[in-house]
Amino acid sequence: MPEGPSIVILREQAAAFAGKTILRAEGNTKIDKDRLAGQRILALRSWGKHFLIELQGFSLRIHLLMFGTYRINERKPDAMPRLALRFDDGAELNFYTCSVKYLEGVLDDSYDWRTDIMSEHWDGTLARRRLRAMPEALACDALLDQSVFAGSGNIFKNEVLFRVRVHPLSLIGALPDAKLRELVAQVRQYGAEFLVWKKAFVLKKHWLAHTRRICLRCDIPLKLAHLGKTHRRSFYCDSCQQKYLVLKAPGARAAADA
Ligand SMILES: [Zn+2]
Repeated sequence: MPEGPSIVILREQAAAFAGKTILRAEGNTKIDKDRLAGQRILALRSWGKHFLIELQGFSLRIHLLMFGTYRINERKPDAMPRLALRFDDGAELNFYTCSVKYLEGVLDDSYDWRTDIMSEHWDGTLARRRLRAMPEALACDALLDQSVFAGSGNIFKNEVLFRVRVHPLSLIGALPDAKLRELVAQVRQYGAEFLVWKKAFVLKKHWLAHTRRICLRCDIPLKLAHLGKTHRRSFYCDSCQQKYLVLKAPGARAAADA
């Protein structure tokens, strides 16, 4: 699944389409395509895993889901696009196997940019506050929670938890404050590195835990298990990634009250 940095790359690659007027829209999406003809693109934006084409009074939201792809000024052979935007200068944007949706009104009313891990408006303090409000969440679920870390996906989850030495089955409310702070900071840090490595086609080379078999710190086999609410693959070390399970007082009280 394309994670936040990959959508930033898409946004950058499509930047030249800002200011262009859509000639017509094609593709097998169910949305009203006629509405797009004659619309001028105001801006290309992104929030987490959403690619956003901002128009006058409404926007297009494109989510590449698990297997979505795109082509700019070229087409995938033998594939029907979900949405294809054609422009009068011959340029085109083609999206495949994705979800396409209209968002009405102004984009700034639809999104809180502070929760986008790749945004200049990212707010780590807000992320920590939201994490503290979910003390019983598993670390592996929290890293995938788009209301906290918009743009973070399974690679982020595995890499960040390995870096900060937190076991994926830890309870968020049991993490010491300093560890929670480190975790949030590492999401942002890894996002910046992911973007650089992805652009240089060396992302996989830098994976420390994701799809790896041996712990680089302990030289023992990494565990692979489908953990948490999403049952997505977790790669982790049982030895150097600590399992924090004892909720701190406020969280513990909340749990008792529940
Ligand atoms: Zn280890």
